Amino acid sequence: MLVPEFQTSPGMRDILPPESARWRRFVEVFAQVSEAAGYGQVISPLLEDLGVFQRIGDATDVVTKEMYDFVDKGGRHIALRPELTASVCRAFVQHRPLTPWKVWYTGSQFRYEKPQRGRYRQFDQVGIEVLGADDPYLDVEIMALGWQFFRALGLSQVTLLLNSLGEPADRARYVHALQAYFEANLSSLSEASKVTLQKNPLRVLDSKRPEDAPLIAAAPRIAEFYSPLAAAHFEAVQAGLTALGIPFTIDPKLVRGLDYYRHTTFEYTGGTLESAQNALGGGGRYDGLVESLGGPSTPGVGFALGLDRTLIACDDEGVFAPPVTDVDVFVVDTTGGLQALQITDQLRAAGISADRAFENRSMKSQMKVADRSGAAWAVIVGSNELEAGEVVVRPMRTGDAHDSTQSGQTTILRTDLLEYLQKAMS
Ligand code: AMP
Repeated sequence: MLVPEFQTSPGMRDILPPESARWRRFVEVFAQVSEAAGYGQVISPLLEDLGVFQRIGDATDVVTKEMYDFVDKGGRHIALRPELTASVCRAFVQHRPLTPWKVWYTGSQFRYEKPQRGRYRQFDQVGIEVLGADDPYLDVEIMALGWQFFRALGLSQVTLLLNSLGEPADRARYVHALQAYFEANLSSLSEASKVTLQKNPLRVLDSKRPEDAPLIAAAPRIAEFYSPLAAAHFEAVQAGLTALGIPFTIDPKLVRGLDYYRHTTFEYTGGTLESAQNALGGGGRYDGLVESLGGPSTPGVGFALGLDRTLIACDDEGVFAPPVTDVDVFVVDTTGGLQALQITDQLRAAGISADRAFENRSMKSQMKVADRSGAAWAVIVGSNELEAGEVVVRPMRTGDAHDSTQSGQTTILRTDLLEYLQKAMS
């Protein structure tokens, strides 16, 4: 095949049917889980002032290297959103809703990353955020909702990793200790991690390079630095998860890069994906983001799940197949097509899904398309039927799509068609 002149840019994809129906269903399931818990949907713009995302902090690649930004025709410095937490906080400051503000969201994010399986430049997430409540049981509630969502998809091999970063002061003392520790062992650190160390010592713990592993394993643990308040919050979170029967694994290395995280951080990992791409999603509690966007000091907690990676995990576990979108009825009309136009319109208006062929093809060719459509019934109109005011109804899902014996087919009055089909479908 000739290579077309235009194709999707690197890291961008077309999501075609039937996969697109699966995407939509994914979001519907997430909406059901969230809305059943009192969360309302927030729909944010794809573009924000660059400054909104810069507030996330300058220690993350998402902000420093991967942003799609440009100056618009009005001279504003704009960015395509790389995530949604900052947009949600910006919206909170702008609209000042009552707290706790519980919202869910879905949509595309943009990051200029190196594309690979499970890592794209445009990718979709679903997520939730709650602003204005500092309660460890809220941390548990959102983790439980994520857990319920995975269950609703049918996933059973998801692991919940949990950690606490403590209070900001605890974290600062920890970062200090970590920096001293890595600096004392600088020669054993990979070159890349040496660079990370200068920017954000916590991020060195994220390194997946084998040469860093022994040093990271023996590094000081955040738990040694918790204040009583932080320790109590973390204990309450664990007790809440246990009370709900949600298994979790404490991972002291789970620090997540963003500067504004405090207390709870967590990640859901898939059981089947390669480790570099096995994070299905994650989140935690954050402070200071609303304030840095001009609002009052407001605690926040939330998470985002990657749609792509979660669907890869579904494929690997053999669950959450694309929904069947076959029509109920396929209308075959060999009299020119006007009958098919009217019948499909009538059926659709009555809530029966219906499709038809175009271009006045032969009976044989239209029946082939009817077979392919997956319809349960073919409704056939030839010139005899037209003259007699009748239609032929033929059941199609007889097991053998190529069965041309016309078994079980029946001729009925055209005026009885709707009632006949409604009865047959119930
Ligand atoms: P983050 O906002 O970085 O915490 O990412 C949350 C989740 O979004 C990850 O666990 C992934 O499932 C997904 N994700 C992040 N970046 C990408 C990407 N470039 N391509 C596909 N999914 C991504």
